[in-house]
Amino acid sequence: MDLSANGVFDVRERFAAGAQYIDGTLCVGTSGRPHPVVAPATGETVYSYDLAGPGDVDAAVAAAAWALPGWAGATPGERSDAMHRFAGVLAGRAAEFAYAESLQCGKPLRLTTEFDVPGTVDNTAFFAGAARHLEGRAAGEYSGDHTSYVRREPVGVVSSITPWNYPLQMAAWKVLPAIAAGNTIVLKPAELTPLTSLMFAEAATEAGIPAGVVNVVAGAGKEAGEHLVGHPDVAMTSFTGSTAVGRRVAEIATGTVKRLHLELGGKAPFVVFDDADLEAAVHGAVAGALINTGQDCTAATRAYVQRPLYDAFVAGVADLFSGIRVGDPFDADTDLGPLVSHAQRDRVAGFVGRARSYATVVTGGDAPASPGAFYRPTLVTGAAQDSEIVQSEVFGPVLVVLPFDSDDEGLALANDTPYGLAASAWTRDVFRAGRATREIKAGCVWVNDHIPIISEMPHGGYRASGYGKDMSAYSLEEYTQVKHVMYDNTAVARKSWHRTVFGGR
Ligand code: NAD
Repeated sequence: MDLSANGVFDVRERFAAGAQYIDGTLCVGTSGRPHPVVAPATGETVYSYDLAGPGDVDAAVAAAAWALPGWAGATPGERSDAMHRFAGVLAGRAAEFAYAESLQCGKPLRLTTEFDVPGTVDNTAFFAGAARHLEGRAAGEYSGDHTSYVRREPVGVVSSITPWNYPLQMAAWKVLPAIAAGNTIVLKPAELTPLTSLMFAEAATEAGIPAGVVNVVAGAGKEAGEHLVGHPDVAMTSFTGSTAVGRRVAEIATGTVKRLHLELGGKAPFVVFDDADLEAAVHGAVAGALINTGQDCTAATRAYVQRPLYDAFVAGVADLFSGIRVGDPFDADTDLGPLVSHAQRDRVAGFVGRARSYATVVTGGDAPASPGAFYRPTLVTGAAQDSEIVQSEVFGPVLVVLPFDSDDEGLALANDTPYGLAASAWTRDVFRAGRATREIKAGCVWVNDHIPIISEMPHGGYRASGYGKDMSAYSLEEYTQVKHVMYDNTAVARKSWHRTVFGGR
């Protein structure tokens, strides 16, 4: 496949000035360690950059701290205007963003064009509006002797760390609520996929958001990431990534008493009751399992199907899986791109290889002959509930299907992993649907669908999937701190409550 033929720009030229964005300028990282950006569809290195070192993190935090008073002091209307322009710049560059995201991640251009990029533009427009709509309790004389009101203030300099699966959307989910609320931010994208985060920060500056408000340090997790989370001038860390790294981030953030927001791994159940629309469930499972080559923290990974529908469901998924077109992300006919890297492909293959000893691999389970990091859609049956393939996050195009008998059993199995990010229930019975939405322990439960997200509604986990919300007004609130202001209205020196200290004197 010819990447350049599809390219709207040459990546080496575009980022000739470096892959760090500090104080409104692209610059070269100072770690002294180069890192490649590899197109996973071909294995070709399309760009090489010097990772950020601790000094770059310090410079980015200093830029963010310097920009903070001006940005926090802007009116909500001024911030909103700039963010509306930001949405306009992003929309105008949609083709560039879609290209770069597809190139570095291997996502089909159809996905980046119809999902990642428009979703990000919509998110930006949403937070531009939300910037003018911070909420609090009504001011009032709650004590009788005082007027109380609430101020919502920015937290300060925010640090964010994001994964490689949706680099642009993850950058947006972190940056937008933070800056809408008047914070400034230093974002560390995943090493494999820095390009669209850098472009996102550049677009913010181009829209008139002051230099230093949005900074990007593209560095290694252990070095730049830990330095950023532990930085004494950073007030809050929001992290999206694996549960294992989230634990480490939490340790560091706790040690420096930072506000913390963790969006971690998932293992979403997909529960099909015996009255479900089978065609809808089968199509929903295939789309929900394969979107972004399964590298989606909310992807359908464990389908529990009530016994009367089980065989037909497995046959339907197997049939659709075998028709999926795996290949060049820039080909309009491609349904499934590669995994993000060969290492990730090998990790997925490892899970499936081990599963062969205790379960049945019905389709896939292999990689097509290609220099790219491809892996075929893989359907696994016959696995025990406590097996690795059912319990662990595989993060690849792999769906496990298990049967259940009673509704009680189906819901218990759905809740039987440490995670709790997302889930779906498939039924035509409103009472069954209601019960599933109440009893499944997850931050999102879909009914008769799986995957859709919208800017107005929160995304975030329960249990080992973390805490804190992305998107929506809930997320905006997390990037603010609430201050209670209380005015005495009596103007008397000896206030009635002083009796608790002075008694009758
Ligand atoms: P990862 O945890 O390996 O890395 C995520 C980020 O953390 C990267 O930027 C990485 O450089 C950084 N990092 C690594 N070690 C670090 C350390 N010691 N200190 C600070 N930062 C460090 O995750 P990944 O492999 O990039 O992404 C896949 C994971 O992300 C999956 O577990 C997936 O479920 C999760 N994810 C969750 C959500 C959600 O909303 N809950 C969304 C997308 C992805």
